[in-house]
Amino acid sequence: MRRALFWFRRDLRLEDNCALYHCLKENDQVIPIFIFDQEILSGLPKQDKRVEFIWYCVQNIKKQLNEQGSDLVVNYGTALDVVELAKRFNVNAVYCNEDYEPSSINRDDNIKSALGQLKIAFYSYKDTVIFAKKEILTQQDEPYHVYTHYKNAWRKRLESADYLSYPSLKLLGNFERLDPAPMRALDHFGFVEAGIADAKISKATRHAEFLFEQFKAHKILLYKNDREFPSLNGTSFLSVHLRFGTISIRKIVRDVVRLSQALTGDQKESCEVWLNELIWRDFYFQILFNYPHVVTLPFKKQYIDFPWGDNPAGFEAWCNGQTGYPLVDAAMMQLNTLGFMHNRLRMVTASFLIKLMLIDYRLGERYFALKLLDFDLSANNGGWQWSASTGCDAQPFFRIFNPMTQSQKFDPMGIFIKKYLPVFADVPAKFLHAPWQYQAELLHYGIELGRDYPLPIVDYVHARKHALAVFEHFMMVK
Ligand code: FAD
Repeated sequence: MRRALFWFRRDLRLEDNCALYHCLKENDQVIPIFIFDQEILSGLPKQDKRVEFIWYCVQNIKKQLNEQGSDLVVNYGTALDVVELAKRFNVNAVYCNEDYEPSSINRDDNIKSALGQLKIAFYSYKDTVIFAKKEILTQQDEPYHVYTHYKNAWRKRLESADYLSYPSLKLLGNFERLDPAPMRALDHFGFVEAGIADAKISKATRHAEFLFEQFKAHKILLYKNDREFPSLNGTSFLSVHLRFGTISIRKIVRDVVRLSQALTGDQKESCEVWLNELIWRDFYFQILFNYPHVVTLPFKKQYIDFPWGDNPAGFEAWCNGQTGYPLVDAAMMQLNTLGFMHNRLRMVTASFLIKLMLIDYRLGERYFALKLLDFDLSANNGGWQWSASTGCDAQPFFRIFNPMTQSQKFDPMGIFIKKYLPVFADVPAKFLHAPWQYQAELLHYGIELGRDYPLPIVDYVHARKHALAVFEHFMMVK
C-alpha cells in the first residue's frame, strides 16, 4: 500500500495539475495538504487581497474534495511542517510542483533532506511554466539574456508533448477518505471578513475559466491593438490566476496554439502576440532561476553602485498618485484600489519613478510587490529591471517614457484618467495630458492646481536632461 502527501502551493487547482496527477497515479492513498505559512503572513498587511484570494481557492479545493468523500488538510504554521505531516500520516512520499524562487528552492532542498532522513521521498514536477530552468539554452549551453532569441528558441522547441494535459480530475478517487474538518475563517488571521457565502468560495477558479473562455472568444482576436489602451480592458486579466495556478499554463498554451492554427491574417497575428506575452513569463522565470542575484542586485552588475537619489517625498507622492501627471496618478490609483495595473502603465509609472526622479528601482519594485494581486517575483523583478535599464535585454538608459506623450497616445480621450481621477470627470481630454499648461481653463471647471489636484512634482524636460547627465557621468567614471 503506497501512501503519499500531495502539497498544494502555487498550483491551486485539481485539474491538469502535473504533480497531483503523478501522485494520484503512483499511490493507493493520497492525503492532500495546504499550509498557510505564518512566517509569510506575518509580513503582510492585515487585509492582504492575495491572502483572501488564496483562502477562497483553498476553500474551493476543500469543497471539491469533500464531494469526493475526502478533505484537504489545512495547516497553519511553516513550510517545514510538511515533514511533521508526512510523519503523522505515515507516508512514503511527498509530491508537489516546482517553485523557482531562490528562497523556495532553498526551502525545498531543506525539506527534501529532512524527509530523506526519515526515508520519505520528495518528488517535484514542472507545472508553472512550459519550459523551466535550463531547458532552453543557447548553442554555447548558456541561458538566454535576450528575449527575442529566447522566444525564437522557445517556439522552435515547442511540441504538443510540452502542453499535454495531466487529467488529475479523473483520478480523484485515490484520495484518502477523510472526515471534513472545518477551515478557519479569514478573520482568524486578523482579516476582516465574516460570513463568507458559498458562491464566493467557488468564484476564484471558475473565474479563471470564465475569463479565459471570454478572452479566447473575443478579446484575443484584437489583442495586438487593444492591449495598448488601458481603457479598453483588452488584455486577459489572467495574471493572478497564472500566479496562483488556478488555471493551467499548459491548457492556455494548448488552446492558443490550436486557435492560432485555425486563424489567418490579423487575428492569427493577435493570437501570436498574446502567446509571446506568455513566453515573456517563462523568460523571466528562467532568468530568476539562472541568475538569482537579480533578487537583490541589478542583472547588469555594472549598475551596482549607480548613484540613485534620495527623495522620500517624491516616492510618497508617486505611491499615492500625487505626481501631478494624470496618467501616472490614475495608474497608481488603479494599483492602490484594484491591486492591478495595466502593463503599459506599469512601464510608464516605473520609468517615471526611476528615470525622472532617479529613485532606486528596488523601492518601486517593493511597492508593486506589496500591492499587486498578481505579484510574481520573476515578472516583477524583470519588469522593474527592464524599466531601470539594469536588466537583461532592458531598454537603453536614454529611452525615457514621456508621460504626456504616453497619455496622448494611449488614453487620448482621457477615459482611463477620468475613471481613476474623478476630479477631472467633466474636463475635456485635451487639458488632461499636461494640466499645468491649462490652469486658467481648469478654473472654469472648478479645479485649482495645487488645491484640487497637485502641480507636477518634476519638470519633465529638466528631469530627463538631469537623468541623462547623471547616467553619462556614471558611465564615464566606470
Ligand atoms: P495579458 O496581456 O493578457 O498577458 C497574458 C499573460 O502573459 C499575463 O497574465 C502574464 O502572465 C504574462 N505576461 C504578460 N506580460 C508579461 C511580462 N512583461 N512579463 C512577464 N509575464 C508577462 N506580471 C506579473 O504577472 N506579475 C508581476 O508582478 C508583474 N510585475 C510587473 C512590473 C513591471 C514594472 C512591469 C513593466 C510588468 C510587470 N508584469 C508583471 C508584467 C505584465 O504587466 C502583467 O503580466 C500584465 O499586465 C498582466 O495583465 P494580463 O493578465 O491582462 O496580461
